[in-house]
Amino acid sequence: MPIYEYECKKCGKTFEIYQRITETSKDVKCPVCGEPDPQRKISAFSSCGTSGSGGYSSGGCSSSGHSSGFG
Ligand SMILES: [Zn+2]
Repeated sequence: MPIYEYECKKCGKTFEIYQRITETSKDVKCPVCGEPDPQRKISAFSSCGTSGSGGYSSGGCSSSGHSSGFG
């Protein structure tokens, strides 16, 4: 079973969640503050070698589009 790494957008807590491939992250919450919809961090599939914390880079590295909207 793969392990996905998440980072809380609220408190910045990084935690790992065991999930299936078909499983979504809709039920993932921060274990510290309970903030839903954490930021999923890509580890193995990361092609871009840019390691920086904070700030969102729009454009550049091509990644799977994140479906916006709730529900
Ligand atoms: Zn949190």
